[in-house]
Amino acid sequence: MQILIGIFLAILVAVLAWRAGSLSWSGALAAVITGGLIFGLGGPPWAVLLLTFFISSSVLSRAFSKRKTSLAEKFSKGSQRDWGQVLANGGLGALLALGYTIPPHQEWLWLAFAGAMAAVNADTWSTELGVLSTIPPRMITTGQKVERGTSGGISLIGILAAMGGATLIGIATVIFTASQSWLYRLNIIILGGLVGSLFDSILGATVQAIYWCPTCNKETERHPMHTCGSPTSQVRGWYWVNNDMVNFACSLMGAIVTAGFWLLLT
Ligand SMILES: [Zn+2]
Repeated sequence: MQILIGIFLAILVAVLAWRAGSLSWSGALAAVITGGLIFGLGGPPWAVLLLTFFISSSVLSRAFSKRKTSLAEKFSKGSQRDWGQVLANGGLGALLALGYTIPPHQEWLWLAFAGAMAAVNADTWSTELGVLSTIPPRMITTGQKVERGTSGGISLIGILAAMGGATLIGIATVIFTASQSWLYRLNIIILGGLVGSLFDSILGATVQAIYWCPTCNKETERHPMHTCGSPTSQVRGWYWVNNDMVNFACSLMGAIVTAGFWLLLT
């Protein structure tokens, strides 16, 4: 029964998001599969975390859109998410939900899921709000000042936003856990989210494939074609590491940190 409700809820959310323009057609299909697994196998607590991430990040993507239009082209994809982005953010969660069905329910898998959601939420919040920083960001690896929106650049606003995104997931998690260890849980979820999003920036500064548009004289994640129509050429990173892989690594790091600290305590 829970599985049927889960699949129904996932279809409902995916259709609404597709109609609102937050998901492409392939993204909606991937959301039905990952959402169906997470809602159906994890139940209400898992559903709340996934929805907290999905709704808060969709709202932030749309907010301040006027101030962000000039930066939008720097990101390889617009605010409409395709299947690759959906799997990068929710794929690990779906796998953890599958693992959670094996009795006895392993508490650490729930904490790993919370850490993964905290990391992708932290990363989305810092990306969406960090571009509003009036102070130029600095490269996480070298400290060099870079243009706003550059992969691997961090700012104070971005870090505070990441903390906010992780904290929201942490609060949503402990609401479902009547436990004396709620404060410890909250702290390790926030920590997992922060470490995950900083790991995302480190990968963005080092191994992620970044391209150059000769017409606009700009760095971009877009390849093979920039938004202006010019072909882009790679300037740094490894050609096979795209933004979706970096996001998946971010969620994995969040899961490892949070679950790791949880297993330390228990
Ligand atoms: Zn261009």
